[in-house]
Order: sequence, then structure tokens, then C-alpha cells
Amino acid sequence: MNAPQTTPAHRLTCHCGAVELAVQLSDGLATARRCDCSFCRRRGAIAVSAPLDGIRIVRGAENLTLYQWGTGAAKHWFCKTCGIYTHHQRRSNPNQYGVNAACLEGVNPRDLDPVPWMDGVNHPSDRKSG
Ligand SMILES: [Zn+2]
Repeated sequence: MNAPQTTPAHRLTCHCGAVELAVQLSDGLATARRCDCSFCRRRGAIAVSAPLDGIRIVRGAENLTLYQWGTGAAKHWFCKTCGIYTHHQRRSNPNQYGVNAACLEGVNPRDLDPVPWMDGVNHPSDRKSG
């Protein structure tokens, strides 16, 4: 595959179609991760990374709802109609979004396996740094 200099924007949609985002990923699908923190293990989604300026809401901004828990540092966005997680602002790196890989047009999450796991149980922000 000839990788283009700039990765093309992906179209991301929730299930019902109320929300559509245009997403510029940090490193294509190479950043795909699962996470076993108390939230992600329940959600079960595979996330890929995007920079903060890499997400543009095409439609449905008013249909996105926010879930925060614990320290409240991470911001998890969902479609309030179909409940599908679209993206979240990371706690481990607030300069990044995690994006639901399975919501990207043309991406079958099956093709991403094996997806590495993030150690969310021992979250980097929970470790003492001195
Ligand atoms: Zn929806």
C-alpha cells in the first residue's frame, strides 16, 4: 500500500445516523487499542487515536451526550438516540481523542485483530509519579 502523505479524513457515523464526524486519525488504524479499565471493559469498543483538531462534527452535535466518571478527566461522547460511543477525550493524554474504530466507514473491527490491550486497570494517571 502506498500511504499518502496526509491521511484522508474518515467518515464516522453512529448507528442511527444522527451523528456524523469527519475524523483525521493520528496514525491511521495503527493506534487501535482495547482497554480494560472499569468503563472500557464494559463498553468493549476498539479505539484509535486522533489529535484534538482531528475531529469535526459534520452533523448531530446536539445529539451527542457526555459521560464523565471518576476524576472526570476523560470525556466520553455518545449518541443520545442510539447510545453508540463515537469518541472520547483521553485522560491518559488530554491532547488526544480516542475514536470508535467500528464507527469508521469502511472499517470492520474484525480486520483489526489482534488489537493490543491498554492496561487500564493500572491507569498511568493513577500511578504515583514521585
Ligand atoms: Zn445515533
